[in-house]
Amino acid sequence: SKVPPIILNNGIEMPQLGFGVWQVPDDEAEQAVTTALESGYRSVDTASLYENEEGTGRAIAKSGIARDKLFVTTKLRNRHQGYDATLRAFDESLAKLGLDHVDLYLIHWPMPAKDTYIDTYKAFEKILADGRAKSIGVSNFLPEHLDRLIDATSVIPAVNQIELHPHLQQRASRAYHGEQGIATEAWSPLGQGKGLLEVPAIVAIAQKHGRTPAQIVLRWHLQLGTVVIPKSVTPSRIKENIEVFDFELDPEDMAAISALNEDRRLGPDPAAFEAP
Ligand code: NAD
Repeated sequence: SKVPPIILNNGIEMPQLGFGVWQVPDDEAEQAVTTALESGYRSVDTASLYENEEGTGRAIAKSGIARDKLFVTTKLRNRHQGYDATLRAFDESLAKLGLDHVDLYLIHWPMPAKDTYIDTYKAFEKILADGRAKSIGVSNFLPEHLDRLIDATSVIPAVNQIELHPHLQQRASRAYHGEQGIATEAWSPLGQGKGLLEVPAIVAIAQKHGRTPAQIVLRWHLQLGTVVIPKSVTPSRIKENIEVFDFELDPEDMAAISALNEDRRLGPDPAAFEAP
């Protein structure tokens, strides 16, 4: 494959770059995922919430790519938290994907005020033990949520998928994950394409390397060691976003991008977000 793996804390390999499908309607997801798989992506990030597990699954089925060469992630939506509801929701996700296992199953948001993520994760541990998810993890968990989860359960999450891009660099979470052996996966790695790709420092580095701003930002993540899952439905951009393994940023490029941190979220605050 074009994309090198990282090794998760359970010894399983995860491609360091995958394809995200948030906000891709189900009837467009099949084409977008097909283009991604044809372009060399082997990891796909969907979620029950995205309502495109079926289109994603159709693309996987018709790709003809061996199942063990693919890495499929889906997520448990908030309203299905709780032990029994999680087991039912997982069955439904597998059926929609048309798969007998996923590679990674994530709790989408912690919803700390609801206080159901521990029971939810215990169901994840059962799904893991049954071999129906090869790895389990979380998304949008703050270190305080992870502390509590790790105290109350037996399997340290393999991954925490969090909002992360040059304007929100998440240094505290990344350091915490490093101590615990949790892989950091960046959502909205391109800052949703809003503004970040026009920042002069990034444009200048792109010109210097003869690359696009999106490729520069993705390279910054990869060199930090983060897993990235950029999204696009435009075939040329889908291809562009995976053509990032044949050049490197210099230390001064990395430093210039790391200087852009503003601790500014595009998405909700994980301490408060509960819908839907
Ligand atoms: P992203 O940072 O990947 O940006 C995507 C947008 O950037 C595209 O819609 C397009 O407008 C633009 N873009 C993409 N490639 C480009 C290119 N080469 N040149 C110029 N513009 C380009 O944002 P995202 O979709 O929010 O995040 C990626 C994935 O992360 C999602 O699809 C989803 O899988 C995941 N995600 C997870 C959560 C969560 O709560 N766990 C939340 C949001 C997103």
